[in-house]
Amino acid sequence: MTPTKTGGAEYDARMQRADRLSSPYSGATEFLEFYKHVASFQKLLHANIAASSQFRPSRGLAPGVREELDLALLLPYFRGYLSTIEQRAPAALAESARQMALQPTESWIASLEAYWKHAGVYDQQVGAFAQFLPRAFLEPYAEFSGALTQRAPLVGTTRLCPVCGSRPLLGILRPEGDGGKRFLVCSFCLQEWEFRRILCPTCGEETEDKLPIYISEDTPHIRVEACDTCKFYLRTIDLTKDGNAIPLVDDLAAIPYSLWAHEQGYTRLQPNLLGT
Ligand SMILES: [Zn+2]
Ligand SMILES: [Zn+2]
Repeated sequence: MTPTKTGGAEYDARMQRADRLSSPYSGATEFLEFYKHVASFQKLLHANIAASSQFRPSRGLAPGVREELDLALLLPYFRGYLSTIEQRAPAALAESARQMALQPTESWIASLEAYWKHAGVYDQQVGAFAQFLPRAFLEPYAEFSGALTQRAPLVGTTRLCPVCGSRPLLGILRPEGDGGKRFLVCSFCLQEWEFRRILCPTCGEETEDKLPIYISEDTPHIRVEACDTCKFYLRTIDLTKDGNAIPLVDDLAAIPYSLWAHEQGYTRLQPNLLGT
């Protein structure tokens, strides 16, 4: 993935997809409407990051996604961001944005730096709700920086993002020959890497019988790829079934599947932005 591929057009596509999915997936409408405001802010921030000297092509590739967090560039946007969240988010999240806005700058920095250091690696216990504020704010920066970071060549199959070392958020099946090839999407920098289809990304189980896949007739492009050994599951968006899907957004719309998987005793490997 190149930086140009994650430009303004990419955010527009995400917002349009959220709009499109708002009605048929009625259970997720409130989240999707809120997500459109988040993506709109992220688009603006992304444009400012892209225009900053730190990411000029002359500087070449970034040293490593987590090595550099340019708070001088980012902090001026944080208050406006909190205000957007306070106005547009569901009540509990709006309140946490209001509380955060009352904190001194040092608290903002501590929150952003903690997320930057631990996200997708040591954060299993933190919870998506507590993480939302730094995560949604820093996502465009992580995505931009991830796209510019040089990857080591993939050797075998890696369960963690080869760019930044985080756990995967999603799987994607992309058309290839008669079937689909599976990729994983990083929960932190949103970069993708190829991953074997019959292999649990959590524990490494590779016995097909232990890796059930659940698909609903209504939305055949959304798959719950579970593992009966470790009881974790991966949400996978199947682009061979719906080429118009935008994985990040279709995932947010799939709230009923999260509830269903939870009832079956499966835990999601890494929650999405909205904690589902
Ligand atoms: Zn990553
Ligand atoms: Zn497993």
